[in-house]
Amino acid sequence: MDSLRHHPIRFHVTHWSDDPFSRGAYSSLLPGGTPEHRRSLGEVLDGKLVLAGEACNPVAPAMTHGAWNDGLRAARIAIEAGARRVLVIGAGFAGLAAARHLREAGIECVVLEARDRLGGRVHSIALGPVWVDEGAAWLQQFNDNPLAIHARQLGLPLRETDFGQPLAAAADGTLPDIDAAWEALRAGIDRSLPLADGVARYLESRDEAVRRATRFALDANLILEACLPLESLSVDALDEEGVGAGDRFLPQGYSQLVAHLAEGLDIRLNRPATAIDWSGDQVRVADESADFCICTVPIGVLRDIHFNPPLPPAQQNALDHLGMGQLEKVVLQFDERWWPVSPSGYLRWYDTPASFGEWLDLTDAVGTPTVAGLIAADALERVFAGRSDEEIALVACEALQAWADALRRL
Ligand SMILES: Cc1cc2nc3c(=O)[nH]c(=O)nc-3n(C[C@H](O)[C@H](O)[C@H](O)COP(=O)(O)OP(=O)(O)OC[C@H]3O[C@@H](n4cnc5c(N)ncnc54)[C@H](O)[C@@H]3O)c2cc1C
Repeated sequence: MDSLRHHPIRFHVTHWSDDPFSRGAYSSLLPGGTPEHRRSLGEVLDGKLVLAGEACNPVAPAMTHGAWNDGLRAARIAIEAGARRVLVIGAGFAGLAAARHLREAGIECVVLEARDRLGGRVHSIALGPVWVDEGAAWLQQFNDNPLAIHARQLGLPLRETDFGQPLAAAADGTLPDIDAAWEALRAGIDRSLPLADGVARYLESRDEAVRRATRFALDANLILEACLPLESLSVDALDEEGVGAGDRFLPQGYSQLVAHLAEGLDIRLNRPATAIDWSGDQVRVADESADFCICTVPIGVLRDIHFNPPLPPAQQNALDHLGMGQLEKVVLQFDERWWPVSPSGYLRWYDTPASFGEWLDLTDAVGTPTVAGLIAADALERVFAGRSDEEIALVACEALQAWADALRRL
């Protein structure tokens, strides 16, 4: 790393892919997968078991408020089924929503959580003097987000990110019109083909400039959102919505919201469920039993749980069409902000092959020079494999430096 001119004073590297209680970042549609698979994964089973969480929400998948809304859906099903005691597996947003709704309905509810903490894929950690989020950072689709209402009621500081106004640069020259390339691809691709074939066919007849712009658009708008390589994604992944207008992050950390929403609930930590027995009148999980169970573990973990009887064919089929995307963050902190300032706080970096494609500059929001870089799918294998966290942080720093140099060259 001789070329590195700026060294972070602190860094943090996430490892969601290796985390035994998430096994990846969030769900995506595998080839042939449709939102209908999400819906059928969450169907009630024999009036006493329902799977819930971000993966089961066909409207807002892979997002915290999607998880929250799906937890509410599951709780309503338990209430309709006449449940008097409910076991909720997992204390992420889906589990918390379910448990709160059941408590409000006067139904006894116990939450079993595998970790020694709440929040699941939402977790804020201290990096020097500031809080940074390892998992979810933004309250997305803000105007239609029930968690945003809670955050506002609590008076939590919020900071808007305008994803439409990134400070962007490309490693190999001027920046093409990425948005136009993305819209043209979505309109022009043959959706009857598998996604990778459809993209290849679409690009066949295009000139090099369009190919380059389309590759960048796919890296930024699809692979960094769905977090799997093209060959592993469904055509329908082109339409699953991610970032939206008015998204906001929480400069003091998302975990504040988790702590508030968990208040007063009966949550038992360090209680990993390994088996769910729904063969009798009661559902049994270890030494607990209840007349209804809501299981909110991520789909990557679901496969490790022994269900008796096994999950029915419709749910197995749904699971075969859903996969965990791989997304990690590298947070870097410096003595001073040496990189160009993006008015939106949002940075985009287009390189080939892709590396750290997007960054959030937290500096203005947290008062200390801090940036968080995101890296997904096959780029992770290229950058993370065989490297220590410190080495990964330095590679991330190099990417940030290359982005800053490219901008200065413009
Ligand atoms: C890096 C990253 C960035 C993201 N960015 C955003 C973002 O900006 N905005 C956004 O809206 N979303 C984002 N997401 C997605 C968001 O975090 C998830 O969609 C959401 O938190 C999922 O909530 P959930 O309740 O469905 O699952 P989880 O939060 O995973 O909750 C499930 C719970 O089950 C527990 N569990 C697992 N196995 C067991 C077991 N065997 N027994 C008992 N408990 C178990 C887990 O520990 C966990 O607490 C991001 C995720 C990642 C990883």
